[in-house]
Amino acid sequence: MTRIVVLGGAESGVGAAVLAKVKGFEVFLSDNGQIKEEYLQLLRQWDIPFEQGGHTPALVLNADEVVKSPGIPDTAPMVKALREQGTHIISEIEFAARYDSAKKICITGSNGKTTTTSLIHYLLCEAGLDAGLGGNIGKSYALQVATEKHDYYVLEISSFQLDDAYDFRPDIAIITNITPDHLDRYDHKLENYARAKFRIARNLRPEDCFIFDSDDAITIEQLGQIVIKAKMLPFTQEKEVAQGAFVRDGNIVIRYEDDETEICLKELALGGKHNIYNSMAAALAAKATGISDEVIRKSLRTFSPIEHRLEPVLSIGDVLYINDSKATNIDAAWYALECQTRPVVWIVGGKDKGNDYGVLEEVVRQKVKAIVCLGVDNAKIHAAFEDIVGSARIVDTLSAEEAVRASARFAEPGDVVLLSPCCASFDLFKNYEDRGRLFKEAVRHL
Ligand code: ADP
Repeated sequence: MTRIVVLGGAESGVGAAVLAKVKGFEVFLSDNGQIKEEYLQLLRQWDIPFEQGGHTPALVLNADEVVKSPGIPDTAPMVKALREQGTHIISEIEFAARYDSAKKICITGSNGKTTTTSLIHYLLCEAGLDAGLGGNIGKSYALQVATEKHDYYVLEISSFQLDDAYDFRPDIAIITNITPDHLDRYDHKLENYARAKFRIARNLRPEDCFIFDSDDAITIEQLGQIVIKAKMLPFTQEKEVAQGAFVRDGNIVIRYEDDETEICLKELALGGKHNIYNSMAAALAAKATGISDEVIRKSLRTFSPIEHRLEPVLSIGDVLYINDSKATNIDAAWYALECQTRPVVWIVGGKDKGNDYGVLEEVVRQKVKAIVCLGVDNAKIHAAFEDIVGSARIVDTLSAEEAVRASARFAEPGDVVLLSPCCASFDLFKNYEDRGRLFKEAVRHL
């Protein structure tokens, strides 16, 4: 019997293990760390043998094929050993797609994946289509293929999932944008990271669609080096395009095949220049899926913001508090600041991933009146912005509560307090969700 070994016992790994079990393989799951209770339960429920707290070589190296979770780097000793002996290693999406004939709309990119994925899923549901939502959001794709049946899947896919994908083929592939992030996993080479993202498009056929940001220099540079056979659908805020999406006279214009649709920018539920891009990508995907203009317009108008992404929390004494905890890199924070129309008290900081704050100088000069650092080491933030806001208007804090109180002292009626940290959260918080929730709690206690 074919033996499938799954490395990693979280959402993606356990999903793959359940699918392997359902398909009748001999399955074994191995996790180097501790497996969370919810996943242990699932493994027991499906009677899947597993180990945690280390990999036993004899139980892993005898695999016919290995499904590796995206969190495990290629430098892990067990992965190296498997590669050395020539074992085929694939990702969960590669494995799951073998058993799924649904139409797949797949989204990757540096920023905007979750927003665009959720928006497209919402559009499909509003159109009455049966669509699963998965990948990096919610339930893994493999678990859904194992236990549910859908006509469509809308999948958010990280570049790590694409690294070990070979035959995986979406019907519609989207790259939202490419900016430096996670470079540590790609030998610190942007080129490698960009190429990993473009793996989403490598198997596209002429009848499939490739949707991309043609204002993004890195995307355009990559496109110059490869051939994609699909229908090319760019979205842009800089020029008019013959096919794709662009902005004209306060409207998004969607041109798909012989059809032209207009959507009023003012009616979009999601604010900010970045969300114009996300809305254009989603509308193109919807159009290519055959969804009516009426449903597209209505859905883009009625979609609710997702938690931790420019999420309005409360207005207190005409000071609006916004939670953008998911902004863990420079580009995301740039867009968050750029779309503010009121003076900003900016809460920033955390675990720096090698940020170049120079990119933000101009927007900080224009929008920010005070800075509240929320991190263990804030030296780089001080060095970059102290001269701009003045040393009396930049302070250090070590908890969400302290940061919110400090912000409230700086803020005057008409201002915005924006948590858009530009950094990962692991120095002070469990993850970005924890940071966002503690921020909201602190605001509610003001
Ligand atoms: P991802 O899933 O790729 O991390 P999200 O939709 O969760 O993306 O958004 C992450 C952060 O990036 C949020 O702070 C959000 O406001 C910002 N953002 C969303 N879309 C874009 C975009 N198209 N370009 C730049 N930043 C974006």
